Amino acid sequence: MAEPKHEELDCDEEQKPHFTFGVIADVQYADSPDRLSGWKVMRYYRQSLLHLREAIAEWKKEDFQPKFVFQLGDFIDGCNFHLCESIHSLQVVLKEIENIDVPFHHIWGNHDLLNFNRDYLKETALNSWSLADRGHEELDLVTAKSSDCTDYYAYHFSPFPNFRCVVVDSFDISVHGRHSTHPKYQESENVLHGNSHNIEPGGSKHNLPSQLKEFNGGFSKEQLSWLHEVLTFSDGHNERVLLASHVPIHPKAALKSCLAWNYKDMLDLLHLHPSVVCYFAGHDHNGGFHKDNYGIYHITMEGVIESPPTANAFATVSVYSDRLVLHGRGRVKSRILHYKKESELKKLTDKLQGICSLLTHPHTPL
Ligand SMILES: [Zn+2]
Repeated sequence: MAEPKHEELDCDEEQKPHFTFGVIADVQYADSPDRLSGWKVMRYYRQSLLHLREAIAEWKKEDFQPKFVFQLGDFIDGCNFHLCESIHSLQVVLKEIENIDVPFHHIWGNHDLLNFNRDYLKETALNSWSLADRGHEELDLVTAKSSDCTDYYAYHFSPFPNFRCVVVDSFDISVHGRHSTHPKYQESENVLHGNSHNIEPGGSKHNLPSQLKEFNGGFSKEQLSWLHEVLTFSDGHNERVLLASHVPIHPKAALKSCLAWNYKDMLDLLHLHPSVVCYFAGHDHNGGFHKDNYGIYHITMEGVIESPPTANAFATVSVYSDRLVLHGRGRVKSRILHYKKESELKKLTDKLQGICSLLTHPHTPL
């Protein structure tokens, strides 16, 4: 596979990044032979472990040791469940990441949920909620609320002053991972079978929006209002926010059939918050990139599972006061992502002021 054309990275040796972090998506490991996916693309199940190993070796060699890694979900493939290898395969990938002394923020993908239900996942090392931010009076309240609400797996943390990372749960509303008697399971069934009035007005049983597939999921109203609280805090404290999830939310950064069910609700929410810099996702193994009209970068990481032996797929992101520098490897293109300029932010804030009054009565369907 040809190397993607990379943007020339800024090599200003004088300026050190505030911090760096690693990103990797869709390892989907299984001890299984290569085979074509339902999309007629080759998947390299054993090679993916070697790619993960190489990514870790590269991160260890970085001049600036990554402060953490975003593992964007689908760490092991759903086929492990039928092979009765779920627990063993999870042990294999977890063992691999022990080779680097850097915390991993794990995100849950559909393949993880094909192997394990949510209650089980909470008890495994794939639950990195313990890395959530602590010790901040105002935000502790927001964090505490989310811990009470164990129905979604989302949290935030600040890796450096004035920067905040947020892990969001794009399978909060999903047919995977919850018992069929759970209200969110039933809500998901309604969404998929066209009985919901909450998604895409006009969608009917015979004309469902293309993102309404079982392998995608959505965000609950509770999670969106929790996120709104976190982002409001960040707006008010001049923080820059980097979000990470499994399922993408922008139609120009991924196939529409791979988007979150209620991606528009998430986009509407993010567009209200000047603090938001970017949204990392995986899930669409082809990857994608888009800077939206509100200056938010949508980065869909290429999937390791569909990366041949000659081309890995991971990145190291260096965070500066005015930009992110994404150093892609293999199939992932390198990019410089400048933050919104002060003048753009002012314009955005003025425009949003009117809209924000509506948030007194937030309406976040689904
Ligand atoms: Zn996925």
